[in-house]
Amino acid sequence: MAFLTEPYQLLQAECRQRNVTLVAVSKTKPIRDIEEAYALDHRDFGENYVQELLEKQAQLPSDIRWHFIGHLQKNKVKYIAPFVHLIHGVDSLGLLQEIQKQGLKLQRRIDCLLQRHIAKEETKFGLDEQELQQILDQVHQQPNAFASVQIRGLMGMASFTHNQQRIRSEFESLSQEFHKIQSGLLPGHDFSILSMGMSADYAVAMDCGSTLIRVGSKLFGERSYPAHSS
Ligand SMILES: *Cc1c(COP(=O)(O)O)cnc(C)c1O
Repeated sequence: MAFLTEPYQLLQAECRQRNVTLVAVSKTKPIRDIEEAYALDHRDFGENYVQELLEKQAQLPSDIRWHFIGHLQKNKVKYIAPFVHLIHGVDSLGLLQEIQKQGLKLQRRIDCLLQRHIAKEETKFGLDEQELQQILDQVHQQPNAFASVQIRGLMGMASFTHNQQRIRSEFESLSQEFHKIQSGLLPGHDFSILSMGMSADYAVAMDCGSTLIRVGSKLFGERSYPAHSS
């Protein structure tokens, strides 16, 4: 399956119009599919697996903006820290501290999103409201201890369901939380990214105020192995 040019152009036009960033999720897809998208001037790509990302990054142009959207283990931060554009799935203080440590070593401020658990399913990663607040408090109280990370916003995944109303209410509550934080907090952090919406639910997500959507199968065709493992 090749990169699907027509769906891409339609979706990209819609995103530009709404000022939404389109991240093309290329996990499990071959290099040549990414090259096809790159040839259309696409630069934002999302990957879930560290090993796969490293292999692709080494073979592709250096102006690609790589988004790490999977569950990130602390011991693997060091491999992607030198080049990653945005880490979407920060789901613990320990992980944020490790990213800080690697950023400091590299003299590089690494952009992160805090992942909020909004779905009903137990299987999805993410922080609950209280855990999120604890991290924000820490960063707020000890800016020097987090000077090599920048909290750019929130990321969330809705429940895997056909119930549109439920998806909408999950996205709406995340959006409200995002705006509450945005208005209150974190001097020195450009807190402006709300990453929500995938192939099946990006339209609802954009309606609810998403500023970045992560779209895979709609652009690259169906994948042959699971979407949400580490
Ligand atoms: C795989 C994945 C996507 C893209 O999923 P599609 O349904 O193929 O668009 C988006 N976000 C995350 C976190 C993913 O793991």
